[in-house]
Amino acid sequence: MIKKFKKIVIKIGSNSIVDPKLKKIKTKWLERLCRDVAQIHKTSKIVVVCSGAIALGSKSISKSALRKLEDKQAAASIGQIELAYQWRTKLKKHRIKVSQILLTLEDSETRRRFLNARNTISSLHNRSIIPIINENDTVATEEIKYGDNDKLAARVAQMIGADLLILLSDVDGLYNNNPKKVRDAKKISEVFKINRKIENLAKSQTSELGSGGMTTKIVAAKICSDNGCTTVITNSNKKNPISSIKRDNSTFFYPSTSTNSSKKKWLLNHLNPIGSFIVDGGAKNAILKNKSLLPAGIIDIQGNFKKGDVIAILIKSGTKIALGISAYDYNDAKKIIGKNSSEISKILGFEGQDEVVHKDNLVKFSA
Ligand code: GLU
Repeated sequence: MIKKFKKIVIKIGSNSIVDPKLKKIKTKWLERLCRDVAQIHKTSKIVVVCSGAIALGSKSISKSALRKLEDKQAAASIGQIELAYQWRTKLKKHRIKVSQILLTLEDSETRRRFLNARNTISSLHNRSIIPIINENDTVATEEIKYGDNDKLAARVAQMIGADLLILLSDVDGLYNNNPKKVRDAKKISEVFKINRKIENLAKSQTSELGSGGMTTKIVAAKICSDNGCTTVITNSNKKNPISSIKRDNSTFFYPSTSTNSSKKKWLLNHLNPIGSFIVDGGAKNAILKNKSLLPAGIIDIQGNFKKGDVIAILIKSGTKIALGISAYDYNDAKKIIGKNSSEISKILGFEGQDEVVHKDNLVKFSA
């Protein structure tokens, strides 16, 4: 059933590819997976998002668990080269070429870089090369980090217009109860809408392994769903982890039907807003009616943002109601908030846009 999908992102967690005790590649498993990938590669374009750099490199740094950020980064730089080598040699046996792409959060959250990375992947795909992607852990610090490859994989899926994201995991999928605690917990085969109930189920099933667990998998599935892409969570520990995927042994999350433009879809799932605008009741109502955000409706602003940055729009209680691209930097925005748009040019000394966030650059969250 996987063959019907034409662009597939396969995300592999550290515990699937690296033996957690020996800190070594699970060679047999990777060879099996590569056989499977080679089959799918005949009919679909593939991107692999693969974790494991830190786990692999850590054995060269210390015997005990790494705590300091710089030690994890050092481990990543050692492990990444090994990871890339493994992919290269294992897929070479199937005459498939690979490339390595290391992304930072900015690469998907700044629209220009997002589009650039998309072009690179498209150029590789046109040559039948499989990109192997990981987070650039050696430069990513806590504040500017995806932190888990589930979200990274979802943003990559969105970037390339994938129709399927496969999250290979240590569980079969999402259950209607915590399978480790409730004996007759049943696996859910299909999710048509990711709502609060699904998010809460995921919270109760976040495993100790990996950095994300079920919660980040649901965040990833939501990003994909908003972008017309199906997500499947499935157990990596099977003979043919990809081609054996079916509803019986996995959980499928289907795309929602959204009419948003691709720019708005990108905005909707932005992972790292640089600042916030706190708005009054009038502005809130205008935003909910898909209108622009004017300076008059903004009560306060926060964050050292520049023109073009993505900003969270909140009401006074702190609830986030929308995301938007600011037409002004912090200093200029600070001067015009609460003011009428007709006063902008007088206050700033240049002819600025009437709206702080134009409606084309704004997405509201559904209630
Ligand atoms: N990028 C990290 C690594 O390669 C893994 C992040 C994750 O566990 O999702 O070690």
